[in-house]
Amino acid sequence: MRAVVFTCDRSGHAIKPSSPAEQRKAQVTKSDLFEDQSNHRVSVLLPLPLTGAYDYSCPAELNLAPGDIVEVPLGRRTLHGVVWGNAQGEVDAKRLKTVLRRYPVAPLPATVRRLVEWVAAYTLAPPGAVLRMALSVPAAFEAPPAVILFAALPPSQPPPDIRLTPGRRRVLAVLQDGPPRPLRDLAFEAGVGVSVVKSLHSAGALTLIEEAPPSPFKTPDWTRPAATLSAQQADAAEQLVAAVKAQSFSVTLLDGVTGAGKTEVYFEAIAAAFAAGQQVLVLLPEIALTAQWLTRFEDRFGCQPAAWHSELKPPMRRRTWRAVAEGQAAIVVGARSALFLPFHNLGLIIVDEEHESAFKQGEGVHYHGRDMAVVRAQLGQHASILVSATPSLETFENVRNARYQLANLPARHGVAELPKVELIDLRQQPPPRGRWLAPPLADALRETLERGEQAMLFLNRRGYAPLTLCRSCGHRYECPSCSAWMVEHRLSGRLQCHHCGYTEPRPLSCAACGAEDSLVASGPGVERLAEALLADHPDVRFMIASSDTVAGPAAAAEFIRSVTSGEVDVVIGTQMVAKGHHFPLLTLVGVVDADLGLAGGDLRAAERTYQLLHQVAGRAGRGLKPGRVFLQTHQPESPVMQALAAGDRDQFLEIERRQRQAAAMPPFGRLAALVVSAADGAAADQLALMIARAAPQLEGVDVLGPAPAPLALLRGRHRRRLLVKARREINLQKVLSDWLSPLKIPNNARLAVDIDPYNFL
Ligand code: ADP
Ligand code: ZN
Repeated sequence: MRAVVFTCDRSGHAIKPSSPAEQRKAQVTKSDLFEDQSNHRVSVLLPLPLTGAYDYSCPAELNLAPGDIVEVPLGRRTLHGVVWGNAQGEVDAKRLKTVLRRYPVAPLPATVRRLVEWVAAYTLAPPGAVLRMALSVPAAFEAPPAVILFAALPPSQPPPDIRLTPGRRRVLAVLQDGPPRPLRDLAFEAGVGVSVVKSLHSAGALTLIEEAPPSPFKTPDWTRPAATLSAQQADAAEQLVAAVKAQSFSVTLLDGVTGAGKTEVYFEAIAAAFAAGQQVLVLLPEIALTAQWLTRFEDRFGCQPAAWHSELKPPMRRRTWRAVAEGQAAIVVGARSALFLPFHNLGLIIVDEEHESAFKQGEGVHYHGRDMAVVRAQLGQHASILVSATPSLETFENVRNARYQLANLPARHGVAELPKVELIDLRQQPPPRGRWLAPPLADALRETLERGEQAMLFLNRRGYAPLTLCRSCGHRYECPSCSAWMVEHRLSGRLQCHHCGYTEPRPLSCAACGAEDSLVASGPGVERLAEALLADHPDVRFMIASSDTVAGPAAAAEFIRSVTSGEVDVVIGTQMVAKGHHFPLLTLVGVVDADLGLAGGDLRAAERTYQLLHQVAGRAGRGLKPGRVFLQTHQPESPVMQALAAGDRDQFLEIERRQRQAAAMPPFGRLAALVVSAADGAAADQLALMIARAAPQLEGVDVLGPAPAPLALLRGRHRRRLLVKARREINLQKVLSDWLSPLKIPNNARLAVDIDPYNFL
């Protein structure tokens, strides 16, 4: 990440790096704005994809300051927005509309406002589109309804002359002994119905108190005892704690094999931030991982942290957003969108599994959660920690250049050893017909089951078979709206497109030639693997773990429970089983098709394959017994497979680094994808050509394409791609905005700009 702050001009497009002096100036303070309020005008950024902020006049008594969340008129409706700064003064004062009111909520912190500008400038998204992510819960701007409590009369006030039944006496006695209480609690404690309390109140014997509702989150207790750390763990923890205590910007990579105790170690950094009275944000790539994390946090700090992800129900979402804004949530663990929460007092950001591409948002604002977490730490001048067993090449390179610090955990905690990884050359030892496991893996599986231990078969393919074709005419079933084969799902008896979700029943006869019973499945998916397993081991207890069979946090928790407790002999899983889970009984992992991720034009294909397979391999032998891992591959000589077999991650990263450097690919060069789409193929071609013809002829900038995207048809839209490659020192955002801003995009087509693309489909 470059240590340059970009500012966007009022069009919201042109980009220029700002000097430190300008950056300081950008941190407008309350007193700065008072000056300008003599003419009672402010600029308000709206959460809409507009080119910039709009001026509004404001009643002097509102006393607005930057960050205030306000309600403003726009056309015939009203909308919320954020006071961004001084009015720009281009619109005639008489024509200005007036700010209607300020919401009763803490202002959006300066760090978040600067982050919005930064992300907008970097991703070339309109600032309002980014602001929308920071204002994602408008219901949280209103104060929640007060809680009404019943209290005894003050001693100075004479009690009314009323008849005291035994029930009424008990109510008064309860209040005599304790604080005011809500109606139901009071009635319950006094052992009376609520009508008794109400009648006491109408008789004037009780008063009412209104209070803000309690925070939904408890304060973590950082003084509780931590795990006893090994010497290496203690060193790493000390380094992280020092970074937090420095109260200045830093990035530290916490690098350690799976099971090394990285979570235990970074808990110490979290404790240090709590001790300093600061808030903490932890980003995780997937909700499925959150459940285990929440439990571990509670074990250590005595309460549940706030969670933030797409499945949060609206009331909890509202309370969480507000608790963060009001400083009542000390810690949030969440998906990438948590980055835009309104922390006022953030002291630490942790990005766990930092290499995961799930941190990159694939639509709307194309930001990378890990990179923008580092930006947020820099804007807020505090520590950030990136955590991984297989760091991304980007992060690795930043460590090499000493831009990031490194904390290392080389060994697994306790007796657990890293499993031995063996390659099976499928060219030499193919599986028997109708089977998917080569003899060495099939033998190892048999031995494992005979010993009563657990095995995992990994195949990153949902469903029964990736391709269905007709034996008579060769017809292949393709999705009507995507350039993709339909995948057979035998458990549901349907064909399904994995890109758009379109499904149809598995046909009884061929759609092209009408032949009956002629459809054959080609290649294995997890369901087909299970069928073959049952054929060889009829009594085996197995479980298929894919997003089809284990959907949602509750199902994930149940899956983990049944595997951990030994109710399952063999887990057959897609990538959802690769991550984070700790299965102590598992001693064998078989990767059925290790080459699966290597195909295609993805710049990070080898890196991702390494990360995924390393992680899958890390599932084996986490308990007391050593683990074995088999990788079935057609390319055992490739650097990825060699490095996996040798357990030599750094050697792999070094080879990968040299290749990327030679090709001037990220992180050694800059990359942007331009994706054109339209319902009509000709319209897509036209726009793509228009963009290509306007391409700048600049030294150090290459424009590749346009070409049909690998997914040339997706959800019924035709797609064309251009790839822009630039040398590192070139301001790619400026090149793109000079090139693209003047173009008139026709209404029947769309252009999406993706800086640092992770998706090449
Ligand atoms: P990582 O995040 O590096 O994969 P974890 O923090 O999940 O590793 O640790 C792996 C396992 O080892 C967990 O069950 C954890 O509780 C345990 N563990 C790690 N360090 C210690 C320690 N110092 N004392 C006790 N248990 C530990
Ligand atoms: Zn489709």
